[in-house]
Amino acid sequence: MQQKRIAILGSTGSIGRNTLEVIDDLGSGWRIVGLAAGSRSEALARQARKYEPSHVAIADNSRFEHLRGALAGDITVLNGERGLVDLVEKSDCDCVVAAIVGTAGLPATLRAVELGKTIAVANKEILVTAGAIIMPLAKRTGARLIPIDSEHSAIYQVLHAGRRNEVRKVYLTASGGPFRTATIEEIHNATLDDALNHPTWSMGPKITIDSATMMNKALEIVEAKWLFDLAPDQIEVVVHPESIIHSLVEFCDGSLVAQLGTPDMRTPIQYALTYPERRPCRSTPLDLVGIGQMNFFAPDFEKFPALRLGYEAARRGGTAGAVLNAANEAAVELFRRGDIRFGEIAELTARVLDRHELVAEPTLEQLLAADRQARDEVSQCVFC
Ligand code: NAD
Ligand code: MG
Repeated sequence: MQQKRIAILGSTGSIGRNTLEVIDDLGSGWRIVGLAAGSRSEALARQARKYEPSHVAIADNSRFEHLRGALAGDITVLNGERGLVDLVEKSDCDCVVAAIVGTAGLPATLRAVELGKTIAVANKEILVTAGAIIMPLAKRTGARLIPIDSEHSAIYQVLHAGRRNEVRKVYLTASGGPFRTATIEEIHNATLDDALNHPTWSMGPKITIDSATMMNKALEIVEAKWLFDLAPDQIEVVVHPESIIHSLVEFCDGSLVAQLGTPDMRTPIQYALTYPERRPCRSTPLDLVGIGQMNFFAPDFEKFPALRLGYEAARRGGTAGAVLNAANEAAVELFRRGDIRFGEIAELTARVLDRHELVAEPTLEQLLAADRQARDEVSQCVFC
């Protein structure tokens, strides 16, 4: 087998570190040729010394000199947003793991799509924002997008059980997050520590907060629409607190086919890296008898108003996904800084999305403008 050359965008984060662990286990058939991160130059330098990629990139320009100083030798050190794009171009990678959080990951991933690379996508925000540009572009260039997000990886795997025109609908499972059984009032006033305490998954802070508002599931509705070319009414959300069934596809004969496993991101990450093959994985196999039972509930749209916004953005299409995502990113940032209450994340996002004047078939520039405007509106709502 030919060696696969991997570049990881966001290598210091939760998905990035899990990807490196998976590659450690996969052995010599997979080689790291590029590593990129936001600002944690010490961690990035440590990774670069271990994996010896040809290129590393740090987005935060103020950490560039530190990184360069820490990495004497053959490694090319790049910086800024342009540096990440250059890393994708110059590292001669076959596969880009898109594991940056938020739309910061868009330019470099878009370049990977233009170049027809395989892209293992964790960074759902870029699909929510620019799926309308990314998916047709991937079709033209032959870039293959393989999802890492556990629900979408499950669907990607399960789709092999039938033909595309035999799919009736998909069910995205949701753990329900830390506030599944809380009251509306408790949710509104939840603290940052409460929101960061996810019951089943260990993830970076932004997605953990998104899981607590259930905005994560809203984003995943839009992500599924783009990845699998589904109409919004073909996507259903079912709350499944054990996070054992990662998602299901209902085929036209009424058969539901599911992918199950312990909640461990190494499984979907490895599947994306080894596709179409499967390899042994370090994640603990599922003990069905030990689990005993699994539960399923309808989602509560009153307690988790964010969920409705996912359907709305998927239905409206155009610039709505960019606005949903950007308003949420900005509101989550304000909540993390203590400027707004937890319940206000979904309220502010809804207000900005409601007011948005849709562009139905936007260019990339129009999507980016909608993103910027949504962020401005969130801060205007709070600080004016
Ligand atoms: P994280 O916060 O742990 O890591 C984020 C990574 O992005 C870090 O390497 C950071 O340096 C980098 N980064 C941040 N800002 C940047 C910028 N401006 N420019 C360049 N790099 C920047 O996040 P995570 O939990 O690993 O999530 C990454 C993505 O994967 C998110 O889109 C998330 O929704 C998705 N995802 C994560 C999980 C999970 O289990 N963690 C599961 C499904 C999907
Ligand atoms: Mg997910």
